[in-house]
Amino acid sequence: MIGDNGADNIYLVEGSEKALLIDTGLGAADLAGTVKKLTNKPVLVVNTHGHPDHSGSNYQFDKIYMHQADIEAAKMYSAPEMRKNVGGSMLNGQKPGEADIYKENEKTPEYIAVSEGYEFNLGDRILKVMETPGHTPGSICLLDTKNNVLFSGDNNNTHVWLFLEGCSPLSGYLKTLEKQVARLHEFTTLLPGHGPAMESSFIKDQAECVKQILNGTCKPIPYESFAGPASQCSYGQATVAFNPKNL
Ligand SMILES: [Zn+2]
Repeated sequence: MIGDNGADNIYLVEGSEKALLIDTGLGAADLAGTVKKLTNKPVLVVNTHGHPDHSGSNYQFDKIYMHQADIEAAKMYSAPEMRKNVGGSMLNGQKPGEADIYKENEKTPEYIAVSEGYEFNLGDRILKVMETPGHTPGSICLLDTKNNVLFSGDNNNTHVWLFLEGCSPLSGYLKTLEKQVARLHEFTTLLPGHGPAMESSFIKDQAECVKQILNGTCKPIPYESFAGPASQCSYGQATVAFNPKNL
């Protein structure tokens, strides 16, 4: 795990032949240089989704794999001006790691679309794409089949945002969670895009939380963030911030 000033988690998974970089953070530091210091294997780069705290350093790489439905968002969010704005909200007051990090005329990487079941073969390790629409339409998780680990982006963490523009209706997100619950025998550990590792059974808390919002059992409380106001409910370890007009 490569920390990004506490704002998000970036993961580098090394196999016997290749390595896979999962997400690229806020784009406020030399991530490509850091990765080169950590592995001498060829590095593939994938985004769990197109949000700016997961695709910010895409401009430092030649090729990015991600779901088709989030490619336009990633292109928009990784533009220099956007990165500057988002870094201002999410870098916790820290300055960018590199003085010239927001230069103009950077290269745009080639985007390659991946969908359910796509395999990143790293040699002795295979990571498989699991489509998990909700937080964004093109959100994916990466399943390390040998080690029973799911890299879960923003789909499975203790405080999931479902109130942003472009988020699926909550009922669509519930379908994603139910699909994951049905596949819990395939992974034991979640490595989320924010926060520490969790046991995979946590997804049951998330599903119950969303059900209680949809069936009116939960009385929502207001939630304020730099991205705007929302309502939120909690169940067990899970909290979901949502838009009552997008159920
Ligand atoms: Zn996100």
